[in-house]
Amino acid sequence: MNATLDTDAARRPVTRRTFDDVLVPTYAPAAMVPVCAAGLDVWDQDGKRYLDFTSGIATLGLGHCNPAVVAALTRQANTLWHVGNGYTNEPVLRLASALTAATFADRAFFCNSGAEANEAALKLARKYAHEAFGAHKSRIVSCHASFHGRTLFTVSVGGQAKYTEGFAPLPPGISHIHYNDIASAREAITDDVAAVIVEPIQGEGGVVPGDAAFLQALRDLCDGTGALLVFDEVQSGMGRTGALYDYMNVGVTPDILTSAKALGNGYPIGAMLTTDRIGRHFSAGSHGTTYGGNPLAATVALSVLEQIDRPAFLARVRTAGAALMANLERLAADYPQLFARPRGKGLLLGLPLAHGYRGRSKDFTKAAEQLGLMLLIAGPDVVRLAPALVVSDDQIAQADRIMRRAANALLAAR
Ligand SMILES: *Cc1c(COP(=O)(O)O)cnc(C)c1O
Repeated sequence: MNATLDTDAARRPVTRRTFDDVLVPTYAPAAMVPVCAAGLDVWDQDGKRYLDFTSGIATLGLGHCNPAVVAALTRQANTLWHVGNGYTNEPVLRLASALTAATFADRAFFCNSGAEANEAALKLARKYAHEAFGAHKSRIVSCHASFHGRTLFTVSVGGQAKYTEGFAPLPPGISHIHYNDIASAREAITDDVAAVIVEPIQGEGGVVPGDAAFLQALRDLCDGTGALLVFDEVQSGMGRTGALYDYMNVGVTPDILTSAKALGNGYPIGAMLTTDRIGRHFSAGSHGTTYGGNPLAATVALSVLEQIDRPAFLARVRTAGAALMANLERLAADYPQLFARPRGKGLLLGLPLAHGYRGRSKDFTKAAEQLGLMLLIAGPDVVRLAPALVVSDDQIAQADRIMRRAANALLAAR
């Protein structure tokens, strides 16, 4: 019992072990604790330096402490933090204008995370279907192995059973199809479907790019049944695949698009983008969130968008992605007992483990971390690389050298 406030509690030294004592154990964080960073460099509590190829799970597109974003945030922090939804504010008006000018969308809704953006998208799709067709049109179709967030609705829509275990009863009216399987889509998308939600490239599910023919088939099936097509671009968006949003690469336009992660470069913000025809079904009072479109978050996102949505910047992402992919292909060819063929798009790449090393993606990223390279996994069988989009050729070469040493270490440990 803490009858009185222990005023020294926050001043005592904290270490990775403090996590085990005072945080709800929803994560299993790495042994080192990052304390500061710049660009793709991160330093831990011992002053050891790491090359960051995670960008905070595909979030820090412009790298750590991007100077223009820091300047914009600092300026706004001295100007106006928050007003509440009884008022609008200049940064959110500018951001919505820029996002709608840059995409298919006419309207934006802002929130604080990817899960909330998807929650908004799915609720809007239901409301639209109910008002335009009737309450029978309510089913949501999504893909096995997909990831859409951790609210009860979005985690149920997501296609990974391990994330819904223990949380029943789950919301009903959700069906799952196989990713890139047009026949499975044809069977599931019938007149009672309100929305089809899909990642144009599955991130958490193993870095699996969607086939253009599959995504086009979803578009056609939605057009045929009146269902809305939702692209979850929370991970694939904001330049990650070499276009501002991956739908632009694929040539299939959704009815609703969700964005988060890199939209705020590490500052919490999510967005749902849609057309005027659909967006008007969310009338005043039908949805909302206290911090959505907050001036600080909107200022950050606008600064991020202005830097990323430039032809030369996006061309460099494609060039850097091709160079990284070429290195991964050589690595997989040189270590066939360890790795299978890499896949992905732009700077969202996956390196699957070979048969004999299934389930060991974390062992590889731990070995790399020891050697000063931070990597991600996408499930137990895939190593995921998602460096900041500003990664240099030199950093790509450095990562290659460390990955080869980590591969040798893993082989030797067997
Ligand atoms: C990370 C992610 C989400 C969830 O975003 P949060 O900000 O963690 O809620 C949703 N969809 C995709 C595709 C993601 O990668």
